[in-house]
Amino acid sequence: MIPAKKLSIPCDSEERLHYIKRQFPAAEGSDLRHEWAGGRLNGLKKLNSIDAAAYNRNRNFINGSVTHLSPYLRHGCITLNESFASVKNRFGMEAEKLLFEFAWRDFWRQVWFAEGHAIYSEMEPPKVAIAYAPLNDFVTQGNTGLPCMDGFIHELINTGYMHNHARMWFASYVVHHLKIDWRAAADWFEAHLLDGDSASNHLSWQWVASTFSSKPYFFNKENLGRFTGEKYCASCTAACPFNASYEQLNERLFKPILAPIAKQYSVTPLTKRAVSGIPAIAVFIHDEMLSAAHILLTKPFPKIFVFDPQIHGAWSLNRLQFVADCLSEMEDVEVWLGDTYEVLMARGVGQVITQETPNCKIKELLMPFSPKWEPVAKFANVEISPQRLKRFSRYWEKVGPLVLGDDNYRKP
Ligand SMILES: Cc1cc2nc3c(=O)[nH]c(=O)nc-3n(C[C@H](O)[C@H](O)[C@H](O)COP(=O)(O)OP(=O)(O)OC[C@H]3O[C@@H](n4cnc5c(N)ncnc54)[C@H](O)[C@@H]3O)c2cc1C
Repeated sequence: MIPAKKLSIPCDSEERLHYIKRQFPAAEGSDLRHEWAGGRLNGLKKLNSIDAAAYNRNRNFINGSVTHLSPYLRHGCITLNESFASVKNRFGMEAEKLLFEFAWRDFWRQVWFAEGHAIYSEMEPPKVAIAYAPLNDFVTQGNTGLPCMDGFIHELINTGYMHNHARMWFASYVVHHLKIDWRAAADWFEAHLLDGDSASNHLSWQWVASTFSSKPYFFNKENLGRFTGEKYCASCTAACPFNASYEQLNERLFKPILAPIAKQYSVTPLTKRAVSGIPAIAVFIHDEMLSAAHILLTKPFPKIFVFDPQIHGAWSLNRLQFVADCLSEMEDVEVWLGDTYEVLMARGVGQVITQETPNCKIKELLMPFSPKWEPVAKFANVEISPQRLKRFSRYWEKVGPLVLGDDNYRKP
C-alpha cells in the first residue's frame, strides 16, 4: 500500500494536466482534451448548447447532435433532474427522445441501487450461445484489422468518449463475434470512458449479451455503414464479418444454443476495518458528487476527497484529469491520494457525511466511519417495484407519465 499524501491541485488547467500525469505515472491513455474539461461550469455550458430538435432527428448517427453530457452527469457536476427540467422547459416535447434517454440513465442506476454487486454477474441466463474467451491485446490496442472497430477503440483511448451506437456495435462485436467474456471487456471499457459508470456500462454490456434482455443485440454492415455515413466502409478492404443479412448472422453467431446458466463473477471484498471513539465529523466527497454547487459543501466540517487505488486504480489518465478539473472548482476540499481508511484515520475522522450512492465499493470503504447517507433527489418521486426493474419498458410505463405528464406520455 502506498503511503497517503495530500495533493495540491493547480488552478491553471495546463499545469493541472501535467500535475496529475506526474501523480499517476502508471495511468494509461491520453491527456484530457480541452473540449472535455471537467467541472460544473463546463457541464452547464454543454447543457445550454443542446439542440434537442436535431438530437431527435439524428442521435443515432455517429456525427449526430448528441449532447456529450454523460461525464458531467456521471460525476454529479450537473444533476439528471436539473438537466431533464432544463431540456423540458426549453424544448417541451420536441425533446422527447432526449428526455427518454435521460430516463435510461436513471433506470440503470435504479437497478444498481436494487441489485448492488449483482450487476457485475449475469442478471439472467443468456438467451443465445455466448462464451468467455479472455480479453485480447489486439482489442484493447485497436488492432483488430477492422477499420471501424479500430477507429472506435482509438477514439475511446484518445478522447475517453465513444458514441452510443459505436458502443453497441463494439460490444456486440466483442461478445458475439470474438466470443470474449463480456465482464472483462466491460471492466476495461469502463476504466477508459470519461463517463465510466458501472450501472450504465455493465448493464448495457449485459443488454447486448442477452443476460439482461430478451435477445442479443447484433447488427450488420448495412446498419453500420448507414449510421457512420460509410466513414469506415468506403475504403475498407478487410474481410467484413458484418456483411450478411440478419438471418445469416443469427445462424452464424448463435448456433448451437448454450445451456442457459447465468455465470456468477466474484467481486473481491474490501478489508473490513473498525473505528471507534473518534468524534470528528467530515464530509466525504466521492466521485459522483463533484459539483461546486453541492449542498454538502456548505456543511461546517472538513471536506475530503480521496483518489483511492481501490476505486480509481484502473482509471485512464484523462478520467483522473477530468476529476481534477472538477475538484479545482470546489472550494475548501482536501484532495488526497492513498487508502481512504488511512486518510480518514490520519485526519482523525470518526464519522462521515456523504451523498448516497449505489456503488458498493464506496459503501464498503466508508462502513467503518458510520456514514450518514444524504439522499439525492429522485428522478420520479415514486417507489419502483423490483418487477418493473427487470425491463426498461416496465419501468417507463410507471415513470414516463410522471415525468412527462399523462398527456405527453406515449408507449415506446
Ligand atoms: C456497451 C455500452 C456501455 C455504456 N457505458 C456507459 C457508461 O459507462 N456511462 C454512461 O454514462 N453511459 C454508458 N452507456 C450509455 C450511452 O452510450 C452513453 O450514456 C452516451 O453515449 C453518452 O453520450 P452523450 O452524453 O453524448 O449521450 P446523449 O445521446 O446525448 O444522451 C444524453 C444523456 O442521456 C443518457 N443516455 C443516453 N443514452 C443512454 C443509454 N443507452 N443508457 C444510459 N443512459 C443513456 C446519458 O446520461 C447521456 O449523457 C453505454 C452504452 C453501451 C451500449
